[in-house]
Amino acid sequence: MNCTSCKNGVLRPSFIDGQFRAHTCTNCGGNWILVEDFVSWKEQNPEYQFSQPSQWSEDEVSETASAMLCPITGLIMRKLKVTAQTSHRIDFSSSVAGIWLDKGEWELLKAEGIAGTLNNVVTQQWQNKIREQSASNNFAEIYEEKFGIDNYQKIKEIKQWLDAQPQKADLRSYLLAENPYSASQ
Ligand SMILES: [Zn+2]
Repeated sequence: MNCTSCKNGVLRPSFIDGQFRAHTCTNCGGNWILVEDFVSWKEQNPEYQFSQPSQWSEDEVSETASAMLCPITGLIMRKLKVTAQTSHRIDFSSSVAGIWLDKGEWELLKAEGIAGTLNNVVTQQWQNKIREQSASNNFAEIYEEKFGIDNYQKIKEIKQWLDAQPQKADLRSYLLAENPYSASQ
């Protein structure tokens, strides 16, 4: 199999961290992993924990920004985020359930604590969860910017307290009324 990422290497059979079957490019060091291989290894080793990479930095992770072709089907692979915290994306070929990791991305998955659940990362549920989380992170940033950090913290506490009160509707009306002591509200 030829490497569709660097287009200069060959994908040779390998074992990631000496555990599960994969193919590694002789040139760019990227890894091609079939979800099937990962899952069958996981079934045999349910307790296995991948250790956090030591002396690791996200700067060392390479990423192909352009679309990549599946080394098996030749079709364009989808780019999938792995968590809401990192902007790195991995390539996924849904037709063969194959994952492409650029050099360093396996370390990134270990650092994020999701290497052991690689098969979940490519599911629609996981991707939806990331989308929701990214959206709520964006809102938090917008509020922080708009209100200032201290005020945002304060209004969050007030809201939390308010939401926990049995008469929250009445309390809200009181709060929102220009003059809560006037009947003409
Ligand atoms: Zn390559």
